Amino acid sequence: VTSYRCEFAWLPDGGVGRDVIIEVEDGRIVEVRTGPDAGSAVRGNGEVEHLRGLVLPGAANVHSHAFHRALRGRTHGRLGTFWSWRERMYEVAAQLDPAGYRTLARASYAEMALAGFTAVGEFHYLHHQPDGTPYVDRNAMGDALIEAARQAGLRITLLDTCYLAGGFGAELDGVQRRFGDGDAARWAARVEDLYRRHAAADDVVIGAAIHSVRAVPAAEIPVVAAWAHARGTPLHVHVSEQPSENAACSDTHGCSPTALLMRSGALGARTTAVHATHLDDRDIRALAASGTRVCLCPTTERDLGDGVGPAHHLVGAGVPIAVGTDSHAIVDAFEEVRAVELGLRLETWERGHLPVDTLLTALTANGHACLGTPDAGRLELGCRADLVAVDLLSVRTAGGSNVEDAAAAVVFGATAADVTDVIVDGHRIVRDRAHRLGDVGALLTHAITAASP
Ligand SMILES: [Zn+2]
Repeated sequence: VTSYRCEFAWLPDGGVGRDVIIEVEDGRIVEVRTGPDAGSAVRGNGEVEHLRGLVLPGAANVHSHAFHRALRGRTHGRLGTFWSWRERMYEVAAQLDPAGYRTLARASYAEMALAGFTAVGEFHYLHHQPDGTPYVDRNAMGDALIEAARQAGLRITLLDTCYLAGGFGAELDGVQRRFGDGDAARWAARVEDLYRRHAAADDVVIGAAIHSVRAVPAAEIPVVAAWAHARGTPLHVHVSEQPSENAACSDTHGCSPTALLMRSGALGARTTAVHATHLDDRDIRALAASGTRVCLCPTTERDLGDGVGPAHHLVGAGVPIAVGTDSHAIVDAFEEVRAVELGLRLETWERGHLPVDTLLTALTANGHACLGTPDAGRLELGCRADLVAVDLLSVRTAGGSNVEDAAAAVVFGATAADVTDVIVDGHRIVRDRAHRLGDVGALLTHAITAASP
């Protein structure tokens, strides 16, 4: 048993407790006690690890494309659109092989750990060799990502992505051939192999993804959905990221992407709609009625000029929201989640759409539920022991070190630089702002240089 004494901790009832003792055994929380006497009867050998600042139950990065990290700083200062950015992204995608991808993803995931993320949802479609031929091991790229996450110390939900078309009625072209399996049945056969390989692992979930209604023909969507539903595993899908996607879907199918997914059996309690930026009221009702969650990616959406998602309407309708860093224009859990609220403020000229506890729940419990690990994201008996300590005395957060203000100080003032300690499933990954792999900046520099066109 390891005992942690948290100066402050954000607890499941929504309040912040002071002097909270959290005891951990075999990667699980076995006791939570609060108050001045909480530390008087610790178990085990009686040693206590002190965590200063506010301790959170680990953030979930629900939507990641690890290789996009290589684009940071190379496209963001330029003109263009989502579509011109995508061309640059494809140039990086063309460079990677399993060894290079493992190196790049390991460094990207280590950056996430330093930012307070304890799990990542990797939306993985870079499957095959550049000409579209499978590697000898058809899941070599997926396994490279899983190995990368293990080395960086994060849990991974590998959302193996079905990607069959270059657009409505369009063949895969150029580097897109790396993404395709031909049809959904062959996608499922490949992913089944990966699923069985990792079925016994506690730190890996193999889930499914439909890239988008652009990239998976309507007749193939039910095949992917059925594979995921039969295994009770997460299903993620990019939805309505762009108004042009809605228009093309309407032209082809006479309905919105959300309606098409609903009709195809792809929505439900294990489904996460990613982006969900351009929704109408009927879409929101369909997501709510089906129990679908939504993952917003506001730092990517603002970088690409995609728009502001209707988080307040989703929450109002009862749709759980979560966040992801997607293109990794920024990897910062607090920046990501406050951007949900601050984007709405700019759009509506009003403050206070989503309370601090709603934002922290999006970052933690809701996110881990999207990733198929609903036993994470709460500092509660029986949950996974993910603990993230955030400094309340830094130049950014100073002034917020009291019970009333600590949560808001972190959500609206902290950055990734304020994360001091990260524990994942009871394992220490970050100590005093240092990742166990060492100099993550150097790891990123090396990996990005190697992956650059
Ligand atoms: Zn994405």
